Amino acid sequence: MDPQPGRPRRALITGAGIAGPALAHWLGRYGWETVVVERATGVRAGGQNIDVRGAGREVTRRMGLEQAVHDATTGEVGTRFVTADGVTVAEFPAGTSQSGGTTAEVEILREDLANLLVERTRDRTDYVFDDRVVGVRDEGGHVRVALERGAEREVDVVVAADGLHSSTRSLVFGPTATVTPLGLQMAWLTIDRIDTDDQWWRWFNAPGGRVVTLRPDNVGTTRAALSFRDAPAGAEHLSREQQRQLLVDVFAGAGWQSERVLDGVRHSPDFYLEAVAQVHVRQWSRGRVALLGDAAFAPSPVSGMGTSLALVGAYVLAGELASHVHHVDAFRGYERIMRPYVEQAQKLPPGVPWIAHPRTGAGVAALRTALRLASSRVVRRAGDLYSPPADRIDLPGYAHLVA
Ligand SMILES: Cc1cc2nc3c(=O)[nH]c(=O)nc-3n(C[C@H](O)[C@H](O)[C@H](O)COP(=O)(O)OP(=O)(O)OC[C@H]3O[C@@H](n4cnc5c(N)ncnc54)[C@H](O)[C@@H]3O)c2cc1C
Repeated sequence: MDPQPGRPRRALITGAGIAGPALAHWLGRYGWETVVVERATGVRAGGQNIDVRGAGREVTRRMGLEQAVHDATTGEVGTRFVTADGVTVAEFPAGTSQSGGTTAEVEILREDLANLLVERTRDRTDYVFDDRVVGVRDEGGHVRVALERGAEREVDVVVAADGLHSSTRSLVFGPTATVTPLGLQMAWLTIDRIDTDDQWWRWFNAPGGRVVTLRPDNVGTTRAALSFRDAPAGAEHLSREQQRQLLVDVFAGAGWQSERVLDGVRHSPDFYLEAVAQVHVRQWSRGRVALLGDAAFAPSPVSGMGTSLALVGAYVLAGELASHVHHVDAFRGYERIMRPYVEQAQKLPPGVPWIAHPRTGAGVAALRTALRLASSRVVRRAGDLYSPPADRIDLPGYAHLVA
């Protein structure tokens, strides 16, 4: 059935991360009414630098956010691989390329970007925190959505942008979505900054497939991460105390600044453990419900593309919804434009993430030799080390749709 003439079309979006508020931004500009339902009691803090690359950056430009994003960057100047003594083995300065490099040209704390997007959309979007969708019923001309706490909503479409473990996706798509673990566990946390912390992303490999990294932020603290292979299955579902103990056991004696980071694990309020994974779904819509961002196509943090995909996906999905009367045509257009871009981003370079997590001392030495060689090229560019396919999409123009 067509939308009723004369009334604004309505969307209910789950997740106030990156994809959800970005979609609300664009739909709002096209005259839609939007409600964003977020499970947490506010915009979630925690996490680290996320990269905005290539077409993702172009979308922030079209949103009028480029300056604000630029002003909030962390100031990371590049990536340094270090030994247990802190000696630099190889360094890759941040490039000026929009897409290349382990350190992207735009590095911003996840919570800063999420806050920025929410703040910019609050006047036109109804944000409902501390709630989640528990029922979705397609009633032909609209969809009726039951929330755990709040009143039912009646909308034209529902978009699940509630992240890697989207419960809205499970509710509507059942087991057809695949969350593929890449065999790596990763813990993120914020620790006190000390005098020797600098503006580099410092990366230390310890034998046993263990990595400790430290990154600068723009709020006077340091962002630490621990990643490791061979974690027990389901470690991310353990209690916080068990997760702490697991990290302490795995990283005991790893060297470099591991003891400092483990001290943070014991005390940090925003410590967060996740199995690194990708999401694959054969079709990103079912009836009037579509998937977006990590809920639809998480490429994993090791791809450096999750945020760019979320921003570009939000732009395309909103544009297609506003371009078509029927949601079926809109979802088809969204999938046709986005799918090739997503597939390229999910295709990780050979050996990733193992190559960066060698098991043996000899493996660590070989990795360092390779990095040293790569960094000593006559023309050294960070993009030579790592260059995700962030530009490989022709962004459609939807400016004519702005209400
Ligand atoms: C706390 C956190 C820290 C992160 N840190 C990093 C990092 O350091 N590096 C990195 O590369 N990527 C990180 N990510 C992932 C990164 O944000 C995404 O890959 C990318 O930006 C795409 O964003 P998204 O909006 O699709 O998903 P997300 O950013 O994951 O946002 C999903 C949102 O949905 C909410 N949500 C979850 N379940 C429900 C539900 N049932 N109902 C309503 N809302 C729900 C979550 O609380 C979250 O706010 C992090 C994600 C989170 C949530």
